[in-house]
This record gives sequence, C-alpha cells and structure tokens, in this order.
Amino acid sequence: MEKEQTQRVLTDPFGRRIEYVRLSVTDQCDLRCFYCMPKGFNDYQEPGNWLTFDEIERVMRAFSELGTRRVRITGGEPLIRKNLPRLASQLHRIPGISDLSLSTNATRLNRQSQALKDAGISRMNVSLDTLNPERFKDITGGKLEKVLSGLMAAKEAGFKPVKINMVLMRGINDDEIEGMVEFCIEHDFTLRFIETMPMGNTGRSASKQYIDLGQVRKRLEKSYSLIDSTMPGGGPARYVKIGGTDLRIGFITPISQHFCETCNRVRLSAEGTLYMCLGQSHSYQLRPLLRNGATDEELKEAICQAIAMKPERHEFIEKPQQSIRFMSVTGG
Ligand code: SAM
Ligand code: SF4
Repeated sequence: MEKEQTQRVLTDPFGRRIEYVRLSVTDQCDLRCFYCMPKGFNDYQEPGNWLTFDEIERVMRAFSELGTRRVRITGGEPLIRKNLPRLASQLHRIPGISDLSLSTNATRLNRQSQALKDAGISRMNVSLDTLNPERFKDITGGKLEKVLSGLMAAKEAGFKPVKINMVLMRGINDDEIEGMVEFCIEHDFTLRFIETMPMGNTGRSASKQYIDLGQVRKRLEKSYSLIDSTMPGGGPARYVKIGGTDLRIGFITPISQHFCETCNRVRLSAEGTLYMCLGQSHSYQLRPLLRNGATDEELKEAICQAIAMKPERHEFIEKPQQSIRFMSVTGG
C-alpha cells in the first residue's frame, strides 16, 4: 500500500506533470511596488487564517508524496513571517523535496541570510527594479540601501545563484537595462527580466508600460554577445550567457511568449487556498480539511481533485480584467 502511494504523481488534464509548489507564507509586505499592490493597501488576511508551520509541512508532505520536488517560499514578503528559518528547516527535512528556494524583496535579508542558508534554502530570488534610490522609493515606497545590504548578505552567506528579478517598464526603468547588467556582472548575480502582468488593478495599470522582452534581447545584442544558455530551477525563464563573462540573463515572457504548455506548478496561498494558475480563478481551499480532521489520504485526494481543475493557460491578453487577485495574494 505504502509503495503504491509513493508512486502516485500529479498530472493535470493537459498531461503536464505538476512538481513545483510556490508557497506563500504571508500576503503582507513592507513595500508597495506599484505594479503589485496599491499604495496604502492594508486589507490583509487575518494572521490567524494563515496556515501554521505544522499545517504547511503537512500539506507539503502530501505534495511530496505526490511527486513534488521543488518548493519556492514566497509571499507577500516571506521574511515578514516570524521564524521563517524554522519553517525552511521543516520543509528541508521532507523526503523528496530536493530544491528549496526563496523569493524576497531583501529588505530583511541582512539579518536572516545565514539562518536561511543553514536551514536548507539553496537558491534566492531578489526583486530589484532599479539601482537609483529615488526611483526605488517611487516604485516601491522603500529604501534601496536596505535591499542592497540584504543582497550582499545573501552573497556572503553563500547563496548561489542569487537571481535578481527586474520587472521592466517603459519610461520607468528601461534606461537601466545595461546598468543592471553591469551590476550583476560585478557581483556575480544572475539577472532576470520580467514582463509586467495584468494582475489585479495595479498590474493592469502598470501593464500600460509593458515592454516586449524580445525587443530587450535585440537591444542587448547590440552591446553584448549573447549565447543561449540554461540555469538550474523549475521556472520558465529562457537564458542567455553574456560572452566573456559568467553572467546569465533570463527572460520571463508571460505576455509576449507564454509558457503555459510547460507549466509545472501550483500556488498555495498563506491561508491555504491552492491556486491553479496566476491568471485564472480556479482554486481549492485546503484549510477546512486541515482544521476538520481530514486524513493524509483525504488531503492527497483533495490535492488531486484540485490539480484536475488546472486550466490550460492564462488569458492575460484576451481577458486582462479577469485577473482580479494581486500578485502578493496568490504568491508570486
Ligand atoms: N515580495 C517578494 C518579492 O518581491 O520578490 C516575493 C513576492 S513578489 C509578488 C514575487 C515576484 O512577483 C516579484 O519578482 C515581483 O516583481 C513580481 N510581480 C509582482 N507583481 C507583478 C506584475 N504585475 N507583473 C509582473 N511581475 C510581478
Ligand atoms: Fe511586496 Fe514583492 Fe509585491 Fe513588491 S512585488 S509589493 S516586494 S510582494
């Protein structure tokens, strides 16, 4: 019986193997990136509704028994959640989870990098859209220096790779493409450009500044030699290496070239709702099961039912108005 259970794998109705969970541990954030959350937004979930660490571990054990290998901790800003390294070590100990990573805005990384590394997080993604302090304040409402010191702490703690995620927006930060390339060469970071998605009304209005990353690649080709490359990780970025350097640049193109046919992931929100797709509303609430005494087998069955609802693709272009959740709610 046990053997039979460990052989189950999650496959959605379109034949895609689901082996990656983006795990949001809070919908709260200490920044307000204008494309993600409205200025002054405070309408968060009650922390009492968040899954506890033990509940999260239980769900992730069920996922791992269904073939999940990769987990990325995210939010909101995950480092707002107290004792995050403790959760990381609980997840790291789950048999079968071989890749544990974190997405953060790095404002609190300075003090926590080493503890996160020791807890078993191996890869780190940091959001950074500009290297100009005033512009950073305009985009996020926060202080660039905190993020830079968090980034340096991550480097010192030995995270490799540290990936910088830069949402590119016309007239906002597209004059910093080459500057960010040079910064990443200098610090041995990986750089990923992201197209703005119409997530919630914030993302929809930021989408007016959308830039097709195909054009960015052409622009970079004028200054650098680009060699097609790859990177470890379960994500959709397409990579190039800059000739004569170790820098890899990833292009994440949900709009100009969507990658739904190879989607391998689902998202678990802080309060225990599984979302099947960033741009669609298909979801399944796991918290009631967890708090009403469901068995592990019932939990796995619920996860399988949820995966059976996974839609074929997002419709960011055809129906941008239907993505009503902010990225910070679903877990980016
Ligand atoms: N707070 C953490 C951070 O900023 O990395 C983790 C959560 S954040 C929601 C995850 C990623 O989503 C970030 O890289 C952010 O830039 C991206 N993001 C948020 N809203 C977006 C949007 N409308 N379009 C594209 N990317 C977005
Ligand atoms: Fe916060 Fe990340 Fe959203 Fe920025 S992108 S507001 S840092 S959750």
